[in-house]
Amino acid sequence: MRPIRPGDQGPAVAEIRTVLAGLELLPAQAGGDDYDDQTERAVRAFQQSRGLSVDGRVGAETWRALDAARWRFGARALYHAVPEPLTGEDVRSLQERLLEMGYDVGRADAIYGIRTSRAVAQFQREMGLKPDGSCGPHTVNALRRLGRKVVGGRPQWLRESDAIRQAGPTLVGRTVVIDPGHGGTDPGVVVPDGTLHWTEADLVHDLASRLEGRLAAAGVRVQLTRGPSPGDCLPDADRAQLANSLGADVFISLHTDGHANPEAEGVATYHYGTDNGVTSATGERLAGLVQREIVARTGLRDCRTHAKAWELLRLTRMPAVRVEVGYLTSPDDRARLVDPRFRDRVVEAIVAGVQRMYLPIERDVPTGSIDVSELRAIVAASTVVD
Ligand SMILES: [Zn+2]
Repeated sequence: MRPIRPGDQGPAVAEIRTVLAGLELLPAQAGGDDYDDQTERAVRAFQQSRGLSVDGRVGAETWRALDAARWRFGARALYHAVPEPLTGEDVRSLQERLLEMGYDVGRADAIYGIRTSRAVAQFQREMGLKPDGSCGPHTVNALRRLGRKVVGGRPQWLRESDAIRQAGPTLVGRTVVIDPGHGGTDPGVVVPDGTLHWTEADLVHDLASRLEGRLAAAGVRVQLTRGPSPGDCLPDADRAQLANSLGADVFISLHTDGHANPEAEGVATYHYGTDNGVTSATGERLAGLVQREIVARTGLRDCRTHAKAWELLRLTRMPAVRVEVGYLTSPDDRARLVDPRFRDRVVEAIVAGVQRMYLPIERDVPTGSIDVSELRAIVAASTVVD
């Protein structure tokens, strides 16, 4: 094939210009069938972005790359084809998406090979889809549903905090779903000896009710995932679904921990993330704020914030945090947790953490400084500054 080059004219040039416009290398309404200077510059930019030799002409290799580039993710079903693998921009988008979420596709090379197929199957298995390694409508939808929640690098982090900043600092009218862990047939951590007859399930429901009261007083719509003594124990996936269906802004799951060693103690928070450093940025921020507030206000040992890919955190589509408020198996933690005033301090700390998540970073306040009982005043004051 003779390269198509500057000065050429005709339907092939028109097609090239259409693809380049689709890639935003030419104005959207470019049209035309002249291989003009503008086209040449766009072709050079395209070649550079694809690691092709930059000559400003469309030879066989550049043509294939342009052909692959016309596919938008979701426009066709993707699968591992043998012997001629599917290639295209849509494959690259899929690979980048999977990489961001921590699945091993190797390099995002725009080729749907065996490694991409395996990564898709793993993703499908974890989402409860048929793990056939092909990317059809169900898998595309599952990826899109996760789209806003799971993010990778810093640019995304900035966009997410921008969205929160634009929402403003007020808690009024937001929806928070509080999830007291366990319940029903599953009591969670139980300590058979001693004076405490609280189970984990009872204790975290008490915490959830107190938190509900505090948040409601600040104008927040609150929903609990279960009552004090449900018949069955709701699976985590259903709890996540409930929060999604309510369009919650924040999801807070409450647990206490337990360990065979009675010396294990302290508070830890968890947000969505994988071993590869992929994380839900707002989830991580919320978890960090809640963790610091609880440590500062209660003196519980700081067992830090951790990334986990648990269903509860992965399937929720809003900033989600799971708090393990102390060890019921630790005599020290237990003695504190049975004190209702202590539980109120825990709850105040969580409210302060949620409030701080909505304060713009430059207006964030020192840990422990928010007086939760004056939340409305703080919110009003910080709105006036705007
Ligand atoms: Zn638990």
